[in-house]
Amino acid sequence: MKLCFFDDNRFGMVDGDAVKDVTAVLDRLPALRPPLPHFDPVIAALPDLLPALREAAAAAGPGQPVSATRFLPPVANPGKVVAAPLNYLAHHEETVADPATFSRAHVNRIQESGLFLKAASSIVGTSAGVALRFPERRNDHEIELVAVIGIGGSAIAEADALRHVAGYTLGLDMTLRGVEERSFRKSIDSYTVLGPWLVTADEFGDPADVGISIAVNGQERQNARTKDLILSVPALIAFASSFYTLHPGDILMTGTPEGVGPVVPGDVLTAFVERVGTVDVAVRAA
Ligand code: MN
Repeated sequence: MKLCFFDDNRFGMVDGDAVKDVTAVLDRLPALRPPLPHFDPVIAALPDLLPALREAAAAAGPGQPVSATRFLPPVANPGKVVAAPLNYLAHHEETVADPATFSRAHVNRIQESGLFLKAASSIVGTSAGVALRFPERRNDHEIELVAVIGIGGSAIAEADALRHVAGYTLGLDMTLRGVEERSFRKSIDSYTVLGPWLVTADEFGDPADVGISIAVNGQERQNARTKDLILSVPALIAFASSFYTLHPGDILMTGTPEGVGPVVPGDVLTAFVERVGTVDVAVRAA
């Protein structure tokens, strides 16, 4: 099942080239009042909502074309965005080889440096595009497979980790290069692009060998497979949850392969994650 938020905060199920409006299913969510939870209420309730979602999609008619749909972030209220630095060996090597571009503080191996966090407020959907705040500095694309936590947990065993995943989506971990802290440079508004939809884990299958790629204005920059991740998706979940509790809706950006490069206002990024799809993301000046 492919789920999305679209247009005017509608909730949808993607069926082939059509988006079917299943917004009414959200009426089944429990009412919330402060203190609000640290998790995303839709993702937390997803297992319970599935039968109603299937019924609503079947009754929704033909839906609207994907091509005429504005896609918002597929997870509306994630508590945190966990991201993996230098999680492909060849990308690690390109950063070590170019200290003028890549901060020296960040060339340790991922097992030593750990993971980092991005502000949830940096998330946009694929249709919103990326707004560069410092277009005179170097801003890079990073295509990544993204796992969305479904069942929360702490100290999750690697062997049990995929059971905790609600689904997968495509992510761009946009990066302003420079000497500031990594989370500061990567938390600019719109520097976490997610979407266009969430593919539920049952439909997506094993994330162990998934193709990902990105082209800038039609020229391929990155093309890799997740089998070359240093820490696999289950290993990342185990690593992250050994430090903090993961909650439903938490976003796990699994890392980017070699070939990161600059983008400038006016560029169009064509991003691909196998089993999610291909989507164009526009770059502009903020
Ligand atoms: Mn990244």
